[in-house]
Amino acid sequence: MFPSYIHVKTSLLDNMIGVGDMVLLEPLSEDSFLDNLKKRFDHSEIYTYIGSVVISMNPYRSLPIYTPEKVEEYRNRNFYELSPHIYALADEAYRSLRDQDKDQCILITGESGAGKTEASKLVMSYVAAVCGKGHEVNKVKEQLLQSNPVLEAFGNAKTVRNDNSSRFGKYMDIEFDFKGDPLGGVISNYLLEKSRVVKQPRGERNFHVFYQLLSGASDDTLNKCRFENRKKGLRMCTSLDNAMQIVGFMEDEVQSVLELVAAVLKLGNIEFKPESRCNGTDESRVKDKNDLKEMCELLGIEQSVLERAFSYRTVEAKMEKVSTTLNVAQAYYARDALAKNLYSRLFSWLVTRINESIQAQTKARHKVMGVLDIYGFEIFEDNSFEQFIINYCNEKLQQIFIELTLREEQEEYVREGIEWTNIEYFNNAIICDLIENNQNGILAMLDEECLRPGTVTDETFLDKLNTICADHQHFESRLNKNSKFLNDHSLPHNCFRIQHYAGKVLYRVEGFVDKNNDLLYRDLSQAMYKANHSLIKQLFPEGNPAKVNLKRPPTAGFQFRASVGTLMRNLQTKNPNYIRCIKPNDKKASHIFTDSLVCHQVRYLGLMENVRVRRAGYAFRQPYEPCLERYKMLCKRTWPHWKGPARDGVEVLMADLQIPAEEIAYGRSKIFIRNPRTLFFLEEKRKQC
Ligand code: ATP
Ligand code: MG
Repeated sequence: MFPSYIHVKTSLLDNMIGVGDMVLLEPLSEDSFLDNLKKRFDHSEIYTYIGSVVISMNPYRSLPIYTPEKVEEYRNRNFYELSPHIYALADEAYRSLRDQDKDQCILITGESGAGKTEASKLVMSYVAAVCGKGHEVNKVKEQLLQSNPVLEAFGNAKTVRNDNSSRFGKYMDIEFDFKGDPLGGVISNYLLEKSRVVKQPRGERNFHVFYQLLSGASDDTLNKCRFENRKKGLRMCTSLDNAMQIVGFMEDEVQSVLELVAAVLKLGNIEFKPESRCNGTDESRVKDKNDLKEMCELLGIEQSVLERAFSYRTVEAKMEKVSTTLNVAQAYYARDALAKNLYSRLFSWLVTRINESIQAQTKARHKVMGVLDIYGFEIFEDNSFEQFIINYCNEKLQQIFIELTLREEQEEYVREGIEWTNIEYFNNAIICDLIENNQNGILAMLDEECLRPGTVTDETFLDKLNTICADHQHFESRLNKNSKFLNDHSLPHNCFRIQHYAGKVLYRVEGFVDKNNDLLYRDLSQAMYKANHSLIKQLFPEGNPAKVNLKRPPTAGFQFRASVGTLMRNLQTKNPNYIRCIKPNDKKASHIFTDSLVCHQVRYLGLMENVRVRRAGYAFRQPYEPCLERYKMLCKRTWPHWKGPARDGVEVLMADLQIPAEEIAYGRSKIFIRNPRTLFFLEEKRKQC
């Protein structure tokens, strides 16, 4: 009775390019999936659904699809009514928050350059456009939106993969009142890649704000920051200045912030030379004191204090203070640690300060929409602690994707009273466990090693991993004599490899211990605390001699694991909405679709599994009213009007069309259709009418 295969020129909607919803793709294979994406991409259709998940292809050019007219088009429309668009997802999330009182989260994933940050801004601007009006509400909206350029200036940088790459993770809760008007927001930031402050991979840059300060700031600002006038390109810094003002920074706060940025630059210019001592050792001395002097002037620090902190280090052993000298290499290490700490603490302070400005002014109960834009999975030639942390976070997000997609799917069946059997899928919980297990996870072992007395090196850490993780099926290393990887020369001795859900990544252990320890010599934090600069003083509270705390601060890995844990628990309480971003090529170019690259992303994002899960039950579902409305012309008994409950009308309609019973389930509020072909059949019939 059914046409066995209807070539899909149209799907739910007329005149659609390819198939708008992958769930309706027939036949379903990786090839047809990729063909469909490509076909749509070639026609500037960058959005495609998998049920309620939005796949977003980065067009690398500006498309006329984000106009105020488009916003109006998608406003208050059902998800499947119009062609796929990120606005449809934003609208659906916003309406279910407002009308059904369900907290939402928008989870945006994909690799670097895939379009996550752009997507998060599109969602925010759409919601801002459709939610309440009025002076106060508009002010809140403006502040929330303008927090983006501020954080991007300080937290984004040009990398080989993305000219505006987010080097921190960001989660923002936007709070609404019962009418759906925005009240304020709260931003959480995750581990800024602070090593970039002192070293950038070839072809990459430091954080935007350094360039914005030098090329765009006014003469006055540059003078105050102890820079002679440079060529002016006012736009960039003016817009940052403007954004900071809208967010609520006072003029003197902006100035303080820029002084710190300038201080980090000056710090980078400080160089050291060895000075021989009579005992035959070398002690470090500042080479040219001019930059040191300028930096100290900027921050109100006594030059001799900082100078001393670059030559000596005080170690406390058994309540006794011992001063040891620093050699040149140690002085550079101390300088870089200070620069990284200054900058990353400034960044966290900015987030706290923005939060003060944008926080809701009322304690009344509110509804929340969380938007998560976190660094994507990274596989570089040289992967270090930062990539390890970033990829761990992506494992957790994939975990939550798996859990929630299935959970949501199952819950819908339960809600609607429909029977459902589970389907198999790869669960990456085992990889999360390898990294985060409290006893023998990689992070726990790194911490253990960092806290162990005696000589601790990256190699001793790797040794430890080797003994403990050797048998783990997702862990590979060569050091172990019995290792099956002994002759695998793609696996150097100083590395370990993890088989992540998104692919194998080789991590070089160099720097793991140091980056995890994240220690700053106390002499330096005390020098900073002594500064006659209110902001810098705040950033180094541990430098207060009255509060000597011998307790070791938590390691970077420990802090990250804890904050990711909190984030995951938070996300689990909300209704998830997914945007899966895909990068079409690695040239940052428009109109190029590199099959192998897209295929890889489709695989590791688990998109085929996503479609299968969605189709394993019922491929399509629709509330009774719109279903009856769309197909009532196919049956004399329902046309032109059906008097009675919509559900009965749909049942009459389906019976009249002789749709087999096993093809359909009648839920409490929706009809569920098992096979996409049934839907095509209905659509074809409709066209023939
Ligand atoms: P990272 O993980 O490095 O932060 P990302 O996924 O956040 O990467 P984006 O910064 O959002 O990537 O996107 C990279 C660039 O791609 C943008 O600067 C922009 O030029 C382009 N781009 C992304 N999405 C769109 C879009 N919808 N329309 C036009 N251009 C886009
Ligand atoms: Mg980004």
